[in-house]
Amino acid sequence: MPHDIEKHGHSLLPSDPELKVKALETALAKNGLIDPAALDEIIDTYQNKIGPKNGATIIAKAWLDQNFKNDLMTNTMPILEKFGFFGRQGEHIQIVENTPEVHNIVVCTLCSCYPWPLLGIPPTWYKSDAYRSRVVREPRKCLSEFGVTLPNNTKVRVWDSTAEIRYLVLPMLPKKYKDFDKEQLIELISRDAMIGAALIGNVT
Ligand code: FE
Repeated sequence: MPHDIEKHGHSLLPSDPELKVKALETALAKNGLIDPAALDEIIDTYQNKIGPKNGATIIAKAWLDQNFKNDLMTNTMPILEKFGFFGRQGEHIQIVENTPEVHNIVVCTLCSCYPWPLLGIPPTWYKSDAYRSRVVREPRKCLSEFGVTLPNNTKVRVWDSTAEIRYLVLPMLPKKYKDFDKEQLIELISRDAMIGAALIGNVT
């Protein structure tokens, strides 16, 4: 399947644009035009808070409401559209559910296809050459480096995102959280858990 390189060849960009951005940031900061700490905070907000919260809202609702979960699994896009979670990089999303038998983890081996409307900006590691090549070859080892150790009889399934299809992992909810309400559940659901690189309640 093609990866939308023409439209968003993030990882194909040489490091040159990154260097230019860095140089620009340095010049602006030096002249007192921006505050690097404020900039970091804005990026952190989009990377870790606003974006992933959309995905977490969907996951928490799926955990709490079996009918919603069934609809979400079978009729994903209309459901997400109702929440307003669609648009660029979110056109075709498939939910993959973790079970005791199968753990799902998502990658884009060719560039960095990612469900932006649900998860925000992809983390740097997701775009790294090391992750993209290694997770396919040695998913368990990668997972252990993320602090995720799975039982030996749990299979690991790696999903390769493309321009046509993006994946969101529906993590397993550990029993100890079964009485949590929606807001408490949303707090538990990390961005990495929805990529498959973390478990719920596993703070790394
Ligand atoms: Fe891609």
